Amino acid sequence: MMRKKPLNIWLLIMVAVSIIWLNSPLAAGAKNSTPERNQLKIYISVDMEGIWGVVHTNQCLPDSPEYQVARKWMTEDVNAVVQGLFEAGATEVVVNDSHGSMRNIIASDLDPRAELLSGSPKPLSMMEGIDSTFQGCIFVGYHSRAGSAPAILDHTISGAAIYSIKVNGLEMPELGLNAAIAGCYGVPVIMLTGDTTTCWQAKEILGQNLVVVPVKEAVNRFAALNFARNKVLIDLKEGAKKALNLLPSFKPFVFQPPFTFELDFHNSNQAEAGTLIPGVKRISPRTLTFTTGDYLEGFKLARALIALASIS
Ligand SMILES: [Zn+2]
Repeated sequence: MMRKKPLNIWLLIMVAVSIIWLNSPLAAGAKNSTPERNQLKIYISVDMEGIWGVVHTNQCLPDSPEYQVARKWMTEDVNAVVQGLFEAGATEVVVNDSHGSMRNIIASDLDPRAELLSGSPKPLSMMEGIDSTFQGCIFVGYHSRAGSAPAILDHTISGAAIYSIKVNGLEMPELGLNAAIAGCYGVPVIMLTGDTTTCWQAKEILGQNLVVVPVKEAVNRFAALNFARNKVLIDLKEGAKKALNLLPSFKPFVFQPPFTFELDFHNSNQAEAGTLIPGVKRISPRTLTFTTGDYLEGFKLARALIALASIS
């Protein structure tokens, strides 16, 4: 009897240890590493100026007769990327329509495995819906920052109001501003598509290992050599597969706090109303600046200043 009792105690201890282990985060991590439990969520933000075939503003404006075919190309570019992602093991893809009205992608023509965030306004705009449950972020159809050449329809958020936007002294295209939003959630940008200049700009900012798929080469702001359509669609699909396979090698893009935003407008009138907002300083007739400890707050304030400039 005396020999059995210690054995029972050891048995109880082993059962208790097993229960504690099975409920521990470490065990949960081990469970998540099995393929059945793996969730691979990818976020895609889609702009229009960097879509294959698009070379002029008229193709990006809903009232223009040229728009309907351009939105079809936009949907096709996204579908090629989505297809590559699912072939490479993605389990969930969220597509955020990020141009103008944000109602450009033809919902019924989008790959039915993907979810579509459509319409505006959205608090995080081109990055609405991003969160820490995503493992990677892809920019499709993106364009270069204002003042780039040769680059199709280069601008930064608002072609009518913004001359340049700097964060901590670095001039940023939309791809950098948006990559830093993904960075706030620990999500790296893994791939970008657009014209050759935008692809180059993206690698400069986000790192040389970024997967880029150029779909056209700009001659100037309103003309480009569009690469062969069949090849582009294959490149987009294969690029997405490659990006997913390289996933562990990408790092989130982050600025170090505090975050100082500097917005240069085209004229002094556009900067005027922004001076009414507490914390915003005017450092030249057409330049506003502010500093914040919260990047997302800074991004939203920058957008508010641009919105004010646009109605001035
Ligand atoms: Zn756009």
